[in-house]
Amino acid sequence: MIKLSDVTMKYKASARPALSNMSLELDKGEFAFLIGPSGSGKSTFFRVLLKEDKPSSGDVYVGDFHVNKLKARMVPKLRQSIGCVFQDFRLLQQKSVADNVAFALEVIGKPPSTIAKAVPEVLEYVGLEGKLDRMPYELSGGEMQRVAIARAIVNRPLLLLADEPTGNLDPDTSQEIVDVLDRVNRRGTTVVMATHDRQIVDAMRRRVIEFDAGQLVRNDVQGIYGIG
Ligand code: ADP
Ligand code: ADP
Repeated sequence: MIKLSDVTMKYKASARPALSNMSLELDKGEFAFLIGPSGSGKSTFFRVLLKEDKPSSGDVYVGDFHVNKLKARMVPKLRQSIGCVFQDFRLLQQKSVADNVAFALEVIGKPPSTIAKAVPEVLEYVGLEGKLDRMPYELSGGEMQRVAIARAIVNRPLLLLADEPTGNLDPDTSQEIVDVLDRVNRRGTTVVMATHDRQIVDAMRRRVIEFDAGQLVRNDVQGIYGIG
């Protein structure tokens, strides 16, 4: 599902590469945690997968996409295959819960009949039945993140990238959000979650990928946060 082959990504301004000769493979259906200190390259990794950053060298594959060779007109197709969730939720504040999710389908031209069916289904799936007409400011942090997850998966992406999705949530709510991501994964979507949350990583016992200064320093199946 994801393959990086000897990828180096160097930002013009900085001396050391954000990703350094990185090789990494993730199979379809996996759930992986991505850990490492701030500045270790986690966000750059996500941006490279989305073709928002261009590697200086090496090859990047996501599903059937050869990302670093992808024609500009195919980039939207790539991005539609990847759902994204962020620490700060990034909901549209002027739109209701249902409209936030519907918007993701409208922009890719789905017909109203499909949208009318998919939106309540996916919101029920993430545990927000009965909240379709709420506005974001009426929701708790955990509920906002559920909306963001619903929006990210409603188009059934191959891959879900979650960049510190529990960074603004208390421990109980964090666990609930990870349970939602776990369910999404068990239905076939590959999930990569960047996190600093030891408790969650240790409780889940899924693959742990660790970056340090742009290098892959650990890739453990069923890892724990602390030691390899
Ligand atoms: P993380 O997500 O693990 O905190 P990043 O991928 O954001 O790490 O950063 C990796 C390295 O790349 C850091 O040294 C950071 O300063 C640098 N970096 C990130 N974005 C940019 C940018 N737009 N321009 C220059 N350097 C950047
Ligand atoms: P069930 O069999 O429990 O009724 P479905 O397979 O019908 O569940 O899924 C219900 C809805 O949940 C789907 O229409 C879809 O909106 C959403 N859904 C479930 N799993 C995923 C997934 N992995 N990716 C995207 N959407 C999903």
